[in-house]
Amino acid sequence: MSDFHFDVRFSEEELQLRDLVRDLVKNEVIPNALSLDEKNEYPTEIFKKFREAGLFAAMFSEEYGGLGIGDMSWIILSEEIAYGCLGVNTAFLATKLGALPLEVGGTKEQKERWLTQLAGGNKTCAFGLTEPGAGSDVPALRTYAEKKGDRYIINGTKQWISGAGQADIYTVFALTAKDRGPRGMSCFVLEKGMKGFSFGKKEDKLGIRCSETRQLIMEDVEVPVENLVGGVENTAFLYALKTLNASRPAVAASAVGVAQAAFDYAIGYARQREQFGVKIASFQAIQHMLADMAMRIEASRLLTYKAGKAVAAGHKDQARFSAMAKCYAADTAMAVATDAVQIYGGYGYTKEYPVEKLFRDAKILQIYEGTSQIQRNEIAAGLIKEAASRK
Ligand SMILES: Cc1cc2nc3c(=O)[nH]c(=O)nc-3n(C[C@H](O)[C@H](O)[C@H](O)COP(=O)(O)OP(=O)(O)OC[C@H]3O[C@@H](n4cnc5c(N)ncnc54)[C@H](O)[C@@H]3O)c2cc1C
Repeated sequence: MSDFHFDVRFSEEELQLRDLVRDLVKNEVIPNALSLDEKNEYPTEIFKKFREAGLFAAMFSEEYGGLGIGDMSWIILSEEIAYGCLGVNTAFLATKLGALPLEVGGTKEQKERWLTQLAGGNKTCAFGLTEPGAGSDVPALRTYAEKKGDRYIINGTKQWISGAGQADIYTVFALTAKDRGPRGMSCFVLEKGMKGFSFGKKEDKLGIRCSETRQLIMEDVEVPVENLVGGVENTAFLYALKTLNASRPAVAASAVGVAQAAFDYAIGYARQREQFGVKIASFQAIQHMLADMAMRIEASRLLTYKAGKAVAAGHKDQARFSAMAKCYAADTAMAVATDAVQIYGGYGYTKEYPVEKLFRDAKILQIYEGTSQIQRNEIAAGLIKEAASRK
């Protein structure tokens, strides 16, 4: 097994960021989460407050206009914001997810041009990888970019894109060599308003309802060659992998936030609800449920921070740690939210109580950015390869 050692402590700056976002979540996110969910409404007002507080800038390096707090900053933000609302967090993190292909593969000019706008918080971004026929099977994508002079002509459809329609800037993956599978994949920056670039209907989802999800529809969209990420064709499968390695610990952190919120509500309710003349928290069955929930949350949190630090350190096993953290924390969030509903009994099954929303929101964590099955496939494939190489 891997020998990666890491320091669990956060720096002073990271702790300050955590306190700042905690206050914003308490005052701005939690009071509005249920209403945004009910109305299926994008959190525009909350993002104004986030922007003023520098939360968008906190996700980026100083070199490109960010605060340069470090690689754990957006993991901290993700855990705290998701504690208040996973929908708000998904919509917020979409910008960083969309920026990652530029961070890992962009040229200096491209980073200066687009990352600075995102760090400034005036523009937001989205990540366009998935297609109607290419979800887990990423190499099956069909979007095609054909070079004509100093432009690429892009045709295709992207599915389930978080922030689509709201975002200004899009990193979109397309084939530039049709017969080369993942080795024929490139990434382009598209901007809202480009001719032929439109969005599908707003999806009516089970959870994370305030995070807008739509298709990206590209019909003969003309994109200048300067928008080819990295300036080299057929290298973007690597950018996609690096993006997912980096983003999965942040998704894991959001799962920790969701699970922690469900736990806090559940223990609070168990301490005040009475049946058979006593608080339900005095029943061993409830106590064991709470103990299991708390153990899984702590284990998820540690794995998440370890994965975040492994990615930041460029450790050789970062992909495995990322997949482990994302899978374990997502499964934990779903299990803990389910148990929280159980502890609330019938009340937990209604919209009157917050655990119903947490239960609906938690499910997406096992689906997006690689399903729990895909994470397990990746973990096992890596372990088997490693075991074979030791022989
Ligand atoms: C709300 C939402 C937001 C999203 N946001 C974005 C975004 O911003 N950008 C983006 O690019 N994508 C986004 N996605 C897409 C998301 O990453 C995909 O939905 C996900 O990767 C699964 O793909 P799929 O839905 O096509 O499911 P499929 O790949 O069709 O999977 C269906 C089932 O089969 C299982 N399965 C598939 N292959 C295997 C296998 N080899 N072994 C075992 N089981 C397997 C899966 O685990 C799953 O249970 C989003 C999705 C949703 C729902």
